[in-house]
Amino acid sequence: MPAVGNSPELRHDWSREEVRALFDLPFPELLHRAGSVHRAHFDPVQVQVSTLLSIKTGGCPEDCGYCPQAARYHTGVDATKLMSTEAVLEKARQAKAAGASRFCMGAAWRSPKDRDMPKVADMISQVKALGLETCATLGMLSGEQAKALKAAGLDYYNHNLDTAPEFYGEVIHTREMQDRLDTLAHVRDVGMKTCCGGIVGMGEQRDQRAGLLQTLANLPAHPDSVPINRLVQVEGTPLAGTAQLDPFEFVRTVAVARILMPKSMVRLSAGRESMSDELQALCFLAGANSIFYGEKLLTTGNPDTERDMALFGRLGLTPMPVVEQGETVHAEILESVELETADTAVRAKTIPCAVA
Ligand code: SF4
Repeated sequence: MPAVGNSPELRHDWSREEVRALFDLPFPELLHRAGSVHRAHFDPVQVQVSTLLSIKTGGCPEDCGYCPQAARYHTGVDATKLMSTEAVLEKARQAKAAGASRFCMGAAWRSPKDRDMPKVADMISQVKALGLETCATLGMLSGEQAKALKAAGLDYYNHNLDTAPEFYGEVIHTREMQDRLDTLAHVRDVGMKTCCGGIVGMGEQRDQRAGLLQTLANLPAHPDSVPINRLVQVEGTPLAGTAQLDPFEFVRTVAVARILMPKSMVRLSAGRESMSDELQALCFLAGANSIFYGEKLLTTGNPDTERDMALFGRLGLTPMPVVEQGETVHAEILESVELETADTAVRAKTIPCAVA
């Protein structure tokens, strides 16, 4: 029931001072408040599991300072062409056979080109025809493109804000925050659900982390999913070498996101693979209720998947089941691509537009 919209119980008028005051609470008090909000809206032992397929990797013309897929940085990520529809469908069938109910597709584009739109739309339609929910992250969209994707059967669109408006220019120079807000508006206008969050640990201050969450919470509708990413520092990107964020500060960010956006799925995304089990457990206590797998999930014997399932077992957590109430809250069990690099950090962070 991640119902989002203009429900009267959801606030969209948070001031920076209010958000900052939440961040500044004593840690136990903040976790108690966030945990209480979580319990009021979700079963606190259920965690949604999701991952995605990169349908077009690398070679991106943008300059997002954290991203190994930007063509201008030398990170060892090779650019690939848009996958064929049949290859995507094969992955979607595998995902469905493994129990998936939603299939997410990500492409490293500034925005989809007109020549790509028919193929992507066809891909979405055919994935949808398999009986799967569809989700995509393709960069900026025009109103017409959003309409075309909706018509093709797209259910969710991921587009992150990344950081606070006042810090944005430190990280990205090739598009404005307003461009992102415009894309989100186009997505909402055609009735698609939004997945939108940001990245912390990029050298921003606490006030700027508050600014990111304030901006997300004050959108006309809270995003259905809010990925909270911890920067994965990739050699060759401008943000490699950034001072590490205090892990408790990451937990605080998760907790404040839960309080501000009580009905959204708060998702641990990029950076999770380097978090200790204890840190992840604190995040679940702080209200995180969705995790992102950056590695293959369908492959048996995947150590990352096994580690996650072992952690679920130790904490008594269960994958979130499908809920048949118009909105789906479920275990998404999908496959992400095997990328052509041996560097785990790069591999784990190679779908940043889609750290959904
Ligand atoms: S985050 Fe997305 S838009 Fe930015 S460089 Fe990476 S792939 Fe391109």
